[in-house]
Amino acid sequence: MTKITKTNSLDKVQEHLTAECFNKLFIGGQFVDPIDGQKMPTYYPATGEVLHELPKGNANDIGSAIRAAESAWLDGAWASMPASARGNLISRMAQGIEENIEVLAAIESADVGKPFRQAALTLGGAANEGKYWGSLGAVLDSEQDTPVNSGGGVGGLPPDEWDVVYRRDPIGIVGLISAWNYPLNVAFRKVAPALVAGNCAILKPSEIAGLSCMFLGKLAQDVGIPEGVFSVVTGGPETGAALVASPSVSMVSFTGSSLTGTKIMEASAQKLSQVALELGGKSAMVVFEDTDIERAVETTIKGCLTNGGQICTAHTRLIVQEGIMGHLLKELKNVFEKIPYCRDPITERERGDRAWEAGMTDVIQPLVSASQLEKVLDFLNEAKAEGIEIYTGGRVPDPADVGNSGGYFIQPTILTNVPRDSDAWQKEIFGPVLSVRSFSSEAEAITEANSTAFGLASTVMSSDPAKAMRVANRIRSGAVFATSTGEGLLAEHPAVSRGGFGCSGVGRELGIFGLHEYTELKSVNYSGFSIAEAKENSNNG
Ligand code: NAD
Repeated sequence: MTKITKTNSLDKVQEHLTAECFNKLFIGGQFVDPIDGQKMPTYYPATGEVLHELPKGNANDIGSAIRAAESAWLDGAWASMPASARGNLISRMAQGIEENIEVLAAIESADVGKPFRQAALTLGGAANEGKYWGSLGAVLDSEQDTPVNSGGGVGGLPPDEWDVVYRRDPIGIVGLISAWNYPLNVAFRKVAPALVAGNCAILKPSEIAGLSCMFLGKLAQDVGIPEGVFSVVTGGPETGAALVASPSVSMVSFTGSSLTGTKIMEASAQKLSQVALELGGKSAMVVFEDTDIERAVETTIKGCLTNGGQICTAHTRLIVQEGIMGHLLKELKNVFEKIPYCRDPITERERGDRAWEAGMTDVIQPLVSASQLEKVLDFLNEAKAEGIEIYTGGRVPDPADVGNSGGYFIQPTILTNVPRDSDAWQKEIFGPVLSVRSFSSEAEAITEANSTAFGLASTVMSSDPAKAMRVANRIRSGAVFATSTGEGLLAEHPAVSRGGFGCSGVGRELGIFGLHEYTELKSVNYSGFSIAEAKENSNNG
């Protein structure tokens, strides 16, 4: 087997990474070196080779970004622009993503270890979503000065002598902290609405794989986002913690693990500042025995193996009705054991995860890092020690199967005989590991689905629409798919808001509710003169 080496696949990506934006922090509209001149490495997960040394910002650099943001916020020009004008700039940034998908996808495939094809598809999604956020600027403008009594005044209207309107103000300086699994998508999903709403924003991407996020600084500069309105400071957890702790930061929007989410909420509580938290999950795939078995196999595989199982909405708990348990497991095992490994994600242009279209995952990517691999192996060792059955997988693959590459690969794994209180059922493993339990009645299916502290996304499969709806309505999670085919599983639409119940999060992303997270609702009471008079006078003046 050929060993994948730097010379035959990393060189080209590393050429892209010589650009300034991948080697400097973006602060106050300029690309600058970190104050202490530190760097940190990222690795190509398929081989473990160093991919790039990127700048490591620290609390001092966060301080610089905050001073730049304070000056832009005090200037006020950005916050008082029409949101539609800010939206136009965001749409142009989205256009910039679209025009650079080839380069960005190559970078993400090298940084995260995902097949190029998948990276390109999801980055296309980020560009579309950005255009959606851009268009919401006009919607936000139309929501300004909405009469309070336009809603019919249930429970009583304001006094006649008042002219009361609602406005949605930006919050101020917001900290945006993102995860590595879909780097640019996760980051831009924060940057775009935060800026459309009129905030000044500082992005701290993940240190594990955040290179593509650095390009957002370049796009902001290209489209003319004013100096200080948007900064990108790369660095580790301490850098994120410095951003959260700053008294000048009025809101933090975070995507990452529930553990870090807790720390961010604690730090924000000290200054009573707001948080929006998109956290982990342990999503349920509930399959009734009236489901077409082939569809159930495809959907289960897509649900748990997309992005190597490293997706917050990964459906890693299969809850299957007793009558089809044996059959479904046998079919799943067949597929799990045949899916080839993605030895060189950068060059993987044909095969790849098809989360965004019909079909199923047909290649297994490496995990993102050595520590993620270790974490997954620890979970599996603990499961074995507890007597949980490894139905298939459970080990690092034979080196020959992955081209002797030294990458962070793990066999796709199915665990059976999983107790409800075990870590394998309760905790997010973030790898290609499916835990299975069975049920007999509809009530039991609901109990099983709701048996963890998470509540991000779940699916119920049945050919009986009424049953699927009953169960979907009882599942406690921010997004539920009720389906007979599995079509659209994991798909997201920019206009459809979603978020987490319980330990999966606080607040909502996407859609108008997602935009509102970055605003403060304010009522303005006019008396002695009407708002119409006030507007007319300001137009004349
Ligand atoms: P993580 O919590 O380890 O890190 C996320 C980010 O937080 C990184 O940028 C990191 O540097 C920063 N950070 C770490 N400690 C910090 C602290 N004390 N203060 C401030 N910032 C800190 O998560 P991860 O491993 O990068 O990402 C994987 C997790 O993200 C999984 O749990 C996954 O489910 C979750 N995720 C959720 C969603 C969602 O939409 N709900 C989407 C993607 C990923």
